Amino acid sequence: MARTKKVKSAAKFRASAGLSVRRKWLEIDIPQRQKYVCKRCGKRSVKRVGSGIWECRSCGYKFAGGCYLPSTVATKIIEKEKIESEKTVVEQ
Ligand SMILES: [Zn+2]
Repeated sequence: MARTKKVKSAAKFRASAGLSVRRKWLEIDIPQRQKYVCKRCGKRSVKRVGSGIWECRSCGYKFAGGCYLPSTVATKIIEKEKIESEKTVVEQ
């Protein structure tokens, strides 16, 4: 498998895809294959099960996130707003 080492998972495209396309693919393919920390149980077992759907293999927690990453800019903004709204509740 030494020949496929350089391009890793993009090897399946072989010569049909240009090198720049393969590199671009790796940029999105590698992060989406990684495991992420579960917000519910804290274990590193969140995997992408579909386009924008993420599931924790440990506790079964399923959530919608980014297409290639579990958290997107949008979810970060929502989380920030949540924290801020919780703050105002405490202040009242
Ligand atoms: Zn979990």
